[in-house]
Amino acid sequence: MSSIIYLAYLASAVCFIMALRGLSSPVSARQGNLYGIGGMAIAILTTLSLPQVESYSYIFGGIALGGFIGAVIAKRIAMTAMPQLVAAFHSLVGLAAVLIAMSALWSPEAYGIGSPGEIHFGSLIEMSLGVIIGAITFTGSVVAFAKLQGLVSGAPVRFPMQHLINAGCGLALLLLMMLFCATEAKFIFVLLIAISLALGVLLIIPIGGADMPVVVSMLNSYSGWAAVGIGFTLGNPVLIIAGALIGSSGAILSYIMCKAMNRSIINVIFGGFGSVAAATEAGAAKDERPVKSGAAEDAAFLLANADSVIIVPGYGMAVAQAQHAVRELAETLEHKGIKVRYAIHPVAGRMPGHMNVLLAEANVPYESVVELEEINNDFGTTDVVYVIGANDVTNPAAKNDPQSPIYGMPILNVAEARNVIFNKRSMAAGYAGIQNALFYQENTMMLFGDAKAATEQLVKALKEL
Ligand code: NDP
Repeated sequence: MSSIIYLAYLASAVCFIMALRGLSSPVSARQGNLYGIGGMAIAILTTLSLPQVESYSYIFGGIALGGFIGAVIAKRIAMTAMPQLVAAFHSLVGLAAVLIAMSALWSPEAYGIGSPGEIHFGSLIEMSLGVIIGAITFTGSVVAFAKLQGLVSGAPVRFPMQHLINAGCGLALLLLMMLFCATEAKFIFVLLIAISLALGVLLIIPIGGADMPVVVSMLNSYSGWAAVGIGFTLGNPVLIIAGALIGSSGAILSYIMCKAMNRSIINVIFGGFGSVAAATEAGAAKDERPVKSGAAEDAAFLLANADSVIIVPGYGMAVAQAQHAVRELAETLEHKGIKVRYAIHPVAGRMPGHMNVLLAEANVPYESVVELEEINNDFGTTDVVYVIGANDVTNPAAKNDPQSPIYGMPILNVAEARNVIFNKRSMAAGYAGIQNALFYQENTMMLFGDAKAATEQLVKALKEL
């Protein structure tokens, strides 16, 4: 490989690092995306200029077909369906790693890693590691997709000796990998693939709905390491670097999310080990206590008499696409001299950063958007909290019900505010499938209705006051 190619790959890797840096804050996220696009463009053009490329027709055919499918999906997909889309994409990276390792084993000369029966030892290790991670990522992501899309139940699937079987699979993979590196036997390679595919399913089925966000981010990390495996097989440095960046940033994000939800990262990696039970009978049971509900005019009256307001957005705001109405509400309150801030829970909505993206789209100023740790002590001195389409992230069961599937997850201390206006369409539960005691609190007023329509009515009522 010429030094110009190496330099171009280095420039592309630097762009990827700048992209990650940019994406770490909403203020610089747009710029981060541009760096990512630039890095990828350099990587693709450089790879296309490699002397090993014999024909462009398949490559351009693939780019056109994949680009078309990707564009159609990007145009049609609802933001709320993003986690399952990401899981589906991860499965493709895993599958690619398996297919590339297979073709390298069947035609090693094409990859410059030796000849049949005499493949370099290092390449055999890379190939087997790549195929194991790739196959686990593939089936694991397919199961995660099916759970998130509601094609199968999101409830954890458990059976006797599950962890023993998983450990047995892990040990078998290790032994088979050593045997494969010693013999280069194709049937052992196929056995490696089969057991890894099974392990991918076994690792994800015991993980319940409440832990799915972390699983998606963990699979993101696995797909990065699978890409590293492909990079080694293809001898492509930029793929190794980009894969390592995805692998490590996915692992860090999983750790941060585990901390935010008080989940054990070990539980997620080893397939539900020690996880809390799914929604308990008691937690999911219908509460018959009466709730206080009011009209938009009542809510507007409460808001107009406040000095400080915190808005807590959640999944329902995303479904209703109510972010623009919410910004208008905040502006109307600010015109009346009321201090307004937004409290963001790290797993509000259905993907990390979901609320930040929506509020940024509605041009909400970044400085009003405050993360959980920074705002949680301020609820007690806040006059009114407007919860719009959020539920689990405010549920006090996370603090006081050890049987709850969300027990231990830090929540926004909405319950401490002087008044709470809770907007949702019904008394239905949120993602974790459990009741929320906050609805029945003395200082809570339910404002039933679609988030967008209800907020628009609220703005209208406020303006008429
Ligand atoms: P929840 O899913 O707990 O609750 C959302 C609420 O919004 C529901 O109770 C629903 O009640 C209401 N809602 C739905 N549609 C509308 C609408 N059109 N208008 C008004 N309200 C509506 O959301 P949270 O954001 O509080 O919590 C996120 C949950 O999702 C957590 O449990 C988290 O673990 C999980 N999760 C998070 C991911 C992430 O990465 N952020 C990924 C996957 C899951 P009703 O039907 O009565 O209207």
